[in-house]
Amino acid sequence: MLPKLAGVFSDDIAIDLGTANTLVHVAGRGTVIEEPSMVAVRATGGERQIVAVGSEAQRIIGIAPEPLEALFPLREGVIADFIATGVMLREFIRRVRTALHFRRPRILISVPASATPVERRAVVDTAREAGARSVHLIAEPVAALLGAGVPVQEAPGTMVVDIGGGTTDIAIISHGKVITARSLRCAGHAMDEAIIRYVRRRHHLVIGQSSAERIKIEAGTASAAANGRDADIHIRGRDLRRGRFKSVVLGPPHVAEALDAPISEIVEFAQRALEEVPAEVAADINERGIVLTGGGAMLDKLDEELTRRLGIECTLAEDPMRCVIRGAALVLEGLADNSHLFLSPDY
Ligand code: ADP
Ligand code: MG
Repeated sequence: MLPKLAGVFSDDIAIDLGTANTLVHVAGRGTVIEEPSMVAVRATGGERQIVAVGSEAQRIIGIAPEPLEALFPLREGVIADFIATGVMLREFIRRVRTALHFRRPRILISVPASATPVERRAVVDTAREAGARSVHLIAEPVAALLGAGVPVQEAPGTMVVDIGGGTTDIAIISHGKVITARSLRCAGHAMDEAIIRYVRRRHHLVIGQSSAERIKIEAGTASAAANGRDADIHIRGRDLRRGRFKSVVLGPPHVAEALDAPISEIVEFAQRALEEVPAEVAADINERGIVLTGGGAMLDKLDEELTRRLGIECTLAEDPMRCVIRGAALVLEGLADNSHLFLSPDY
């Protein structure tokens, strides 16, 4: 039996270790870190050295006099790079502990529902080495539901779809019991990749991931019948056939076409989850609707498109990128009855 985290200790911390962004909350103080899950790497003579973490990594990559590489150790929703993940997590914990005068905090960390035993172990071990007194894990979508304001204990069948950078995580909870929690490796980054492919296919233009992300945020939409969004975007890139730079204009209908494949994949994943739960739970969800969280869910009209394709009302939570950390903070501060929501690090 896992011990219950009861009462507020002012040195306890919750961490949302996301594929795109990491957030850290200190009990009684609020969110103290909100930074990209990235590190800056210097590669010299076959040796890799991590020189900065989080926002600092992002800042220096553009301006450093030497070539530095940006590395996203969790990008695909799996720990692609255990060493870099460890360095990043340790650095965030170190910063908080410095502010807490080096007390040993209890740490609650949210991980994707699909994190493997090896990945869970690595996260727990790293947090321990970084000075945690104890470490607990919670599945991201479960935290997201709590953070979206669903009273998890009382609520009948309720479903959340958390669309992050690397993974889309789904949880279905009924009366406090986790019926299913699973994840798919298709979310915000897959949308960026789909835009890169579309622009290459249609315009023979090579664009980078950050341009694709900007197109998605500024001109993107989920609905092919995109009216109302007047947001044409000019992009420049290298023409694959002529090798020269050229620019093209993309509008919301083009981006909707580009995003059809990743959106369909997310829809099918949600449909499979719904098919596999008991009929009465599915009926509850039908009636109560689905909650959308995560940065990827902020795509223009994605809520409407998912509602249309799933036939169930989908509603974007308030402040969707912070639902997981809010939920984890509620658990941490003992405001949500919690021990049964923890994931075991061992299975
Ligand atoms: P994670 O929990 O995996 O770290 P987040 O919930 O922080 O991910 O979401 C990050 C993703 O959200 C990125 O892929 C980013 O491009 C995407 N995103 C952020 N804002 C928007 C927006 N307005 N429209 C579409 N996608 C967005
Ligand atoms: Mg997340």
